[in-house]
Amino acid sequence: MGIPYGRHSIDEIDIRVVIEALRSDWLTTGPQLEAFEQAVAVFTGTAHAVAVNNGTAALHAAMHAVGIGPGDEVIVPPMTFAGTANAVIMQGGRPVFADVERDTLLISPDAVKDRITPRTKAIVAVDYAGQPCDYEQLRLIAARHGLALIADACHSLGGSERGQPVGSLADLTVFSFHPVKAMTTGEGGMIVTNDAQLATRMRRFRNHGITTDHRQRTEQGTWYYEMIDLGWNYRLSDIQAALGLSQLRKVPEWIRRRQIIASRYDEAFSGLGAAKPLSCRPEVSHAYHLYVLRLDRDSCPASRCEVFASLRRMGVDVQVHYIPVYFHPYYRSQFGFRPGLCPVTEEAYQDVLSLPMFPALTEQQIQHVITSVQQTLGAFDAVPALSGGTRIATP
Ligand SMILES: *Cc1c(COP(=O)(O)O)cnc(C)c1O
Repeated sequence: MGIPYGRHSIDEIDIRVVIEALRSDWLTTGPQLEAFEQAVAVFTGTAHAVAVNNGTAALHAAMHAVGIGPGDEVIVPPMTFAGTANAVIMQGGRPVFADVERDTLLISPDAVKDRITPRTKAIVAVDYAGQPCDYEQLRLIAARHGLALIADACHSLGGSERGQPVGSLADLTVFSFHPVKAMTTGEGGMIVTNDAQLATRMRRFRNHGITTDHRQRTEQGTWYYEMIDLGWNYRLSDIQAALGLSQLRKVPEWIRRRQIIASRYDEAFSGLGAAKPLSCRPEVSHAYHLYVLRLDRDSCPASRCEVFASLRRMGVDVQVHYIPVYFHPYYRSQFGFRPGLCPVTEEAYQDVLSLPMFPALTEQQIQHVITSVQQTLGAFDAVPALSGGTRIATP
């Protein structure tokens, strides 16, 4: 196995708190959950945090909270994991794809404006690779058109824009605690908001649409409850919440480590003709969930497939983020989406590679990634440039 593109970090404290949770009276929706939610609210500078069992459930709860239903349109970027757009469909809505900016692959505020119709209800901004979007512009657009602004911040926990933490930049912000993300609970997710009503709706939504949870009824000594909405069982266990609370304390240190690795890569790759790192906006602190290298079409004679295969052979397990969501067969057959809809995303998809990026990367591994990229692209650089941007054919 080569060096993976992402990996969790678990230490002995994490293991101990999970064992303590297993020995406690509460295995789900207990004191650890409440403490974890409060800690995430404080960390993100928001009033309310609602934990759920994964990031997609968090997106689904956010769609429910803002009232997405049949006939409603939600603007999303195609340069994301399918779950972002799937959550719209789960509520009966229609995802409308708006293209991204060429240099950052973040949703373009101008493209968002072009996609607004009388049916638009919400905008989902995805902090691709861990870089916060242009929330100043997006908030203005959302306010002008009366739309909800939802941040899919599954990549950007611990990042900020103009000193404001991710979580406080949109009406609702969604996190994932899958093992490759900034911190993990095995599987897990969270939504943060300053709106108490939205938080209440999401708390019900994760518990079958029931107004109280088991712990509240136990404390009140009552058995009676009411289901007032259709909900799901999207609860996060107390075992996971204990792990989350322990992991969260390490996020600032891990983000600093990711930023250091990114600057090492930036420095090593800035002189390459065949590829360039994505741009980082000066007003953000980038959380670097991913480190994305983009092949330069004019000076790289090799295709992404060739570079991908070469790096994999050298033990660097690069990945591709992402296949444009509407390229997936489900989206083509159910909604009739066709290539050509978002040309900037489609072009970027041909050229992006995610390099290994996680806090536990060793100095030796970082050096191996750098050398492998330099050798691979250097070898292709040595191939005489073909006129007209012609590329070596790939199978
Ligand atoms: C990981 C991720 C999700 C989904 O999170 P899960 O916890 O895997 O359900 C959604 N959006 C983006 C951008 C992600 O990276």
